[in-house]
Amino acid sequence: MEKRITEMHINQAKLSIIQGDITKQATDAIVNAANPSLMGGGGVDGAIHHAGGSAILEECEQIIAWQGRLPTGKAVITTGGNLKARFVIHTVGPIWRGSNVISAWGGSSAKFVIHAPDPIWHEGNKREPELLASAYRESLKLAVENNLTSISFPSISTGAYGYPVDEAAKVAIITVASFIKVVGTSIKEVVFVLFDSATFESYSSVLGKIAGKSKQA
Ligand code: ADP
Repeated sequence: MEKRITEMHINQAKLSIIQGDITKQATDAIVNAANPSLMGGGGVDGAIHHAGGSAILEECEQIIAWQGRLPTGKAVITTGGNLKARFVIHTVGPIWRGSNVISAWGGSSAKFVIHAPDPIWHEGNKREPELLASAYRESLKLAVENNLTSISFPSISTGAYGYPVDEAAKVAIITVASFIKVVGTSIKEVVFVLFDSATFESYSSVLGKIAGKSKQA
């Protein structure tokens, strides 16, 4: 069963969060957290290709033949095939390289071990939020270019790509909210469709905070 919470209205558009399966959404487009090959994979990508059928993969193959692999932070659009959504927008989120990640340490009296990355990742660390924001923005731009009014997003990068959910939720919601603030785009509805309850709770909490702040303002 779908759990639906906070709906926030920003100018002409509604932003909402549900827990559910994005392949069941009837918005004009659903967004796929793809990988640069566009050849399908696990997670939400596999679910979308499975439910949408071979027409999606055929268009992805044409896109790859025409323009090569899809860079991180960019997006392309294909048919929705057998899905309720007419279109699938495929975007590539960043792989989380990790700033300092704290984990439980089993073998000594220390409680935690802090895994600091090699300095070589420094540049990559800085660009992860920017690339994630770009994945959301480029997807929304494509929706507007195609005159679509509604779009559903999964939680990009927080599965196999390992982006911490609380951090990703902030980037996702702030980026989408700023985009739909601009009056005069075709977008009337954005839905975050979150698969598991921990991800749902994390996005709900960020949206709740933003809604609270905008009420105070
Ligand atoms: P990434 O490689 O960008 O991390 P994943 O597909 O591994 O993408 O995970 C992104 C998010 O999508 C995760 O929160 C995962 O639980 C979720 N997910 C998986 N299947 C579905 C689905 N059918 N609908 C919505 N979200 C899904």
